[in-house]
Amino acid sequence: SPVIGVLALQGDVREHLTALAAADAVARPVRRPEELAEVDGLVIPGGESTTISKLAHLFGLMEPLRERVRAGMPVYGTCAGLILLAEKILDPRSGQETVGGIDMIVRRNAFGRQNESFESAVAVTGVEGGPVEGVFIRAPWVESVGAGVEVLAEHKGHIVAVRQGAALATSFHPELTGDHRMHALFGDMVRTARSEGVRVGAP
Ligand code: GLN
Repeated sequence: SPVIGVLALQGDVREHLTALAAADAVARPVRRPEELAEVDGLVIPGGESTTISKLAHLFGLMEPLRERVRAGMPVYGTCAGLILLAEKILDPRSGQETVGGIDMIVRRNAFGRQNESFESAVAVTGVEGGPVEGVFIRAPWVESVGAGVEVLAEHKGHIVAVRQGAALATSFHPELTGDHRMHALFGDMVRTARSEGVRVGAP
C-alpha cells in the first residue's frame, strides 16, 4: 500500500488519517522534512490556511513541500489545503504564502458569512456511484483556472474541485463524512504515480 502523509501542523488531521486508512492507504502525520521525505503522497487538511502557511515556514517545511510538489508528488488539499495549493490567492492575509502546484486563483471564505457552513450533494468527475456529500465550512472557491487544470466539480456555478496532474483539491471536506471515495481516488493517484516511477519516499 502507498504511504500517504497528512500535513499535521493545524486542522482536521485525525479525520484525514482515518479516512485514508478506510480507503486502504497507510496514513501518517507529517510535521518534519524527514517525515515528508518518506511519504508517497500528501494530504493538506482543512483548517486555517494562514496558520498552516506560517507553521510550515516555522517548521522548515515550505521549501521541501514546494520541491516535492514540483517533482510530481501526489497531493490532495481540502478547503484550507486547496488554498495552499493555489498559485495565487485573491485576498491573501499578510504573511500568507502558498505551496502552489495548481494553476488557479482562489477566493477565501468565498461562500459568505451567512452561509459559513452548509452541505450539498456534489457530482465529481471521476468519482463513480453518484454525488458525494459536500461539507463546506467557510469554504473557498476557485475563481479561475489555467489551461492545464481539469475542473471536476462546481457548486452553483462556482468551481469546487480541480485536478492538475497529480494535484487534487476540493473546497469541501470529504474527511468529515463517512464517504471515502475522494480519498480512494487520491489513493489511486498515488498508486499510479508510484507505478510510473515518480520519485517517492527516501532515496
Ligand atoms: N476559511 C479557511 C481559510 O481561509 C478555510 C476553512 C476550512 O478549511 N474549513 O483557511
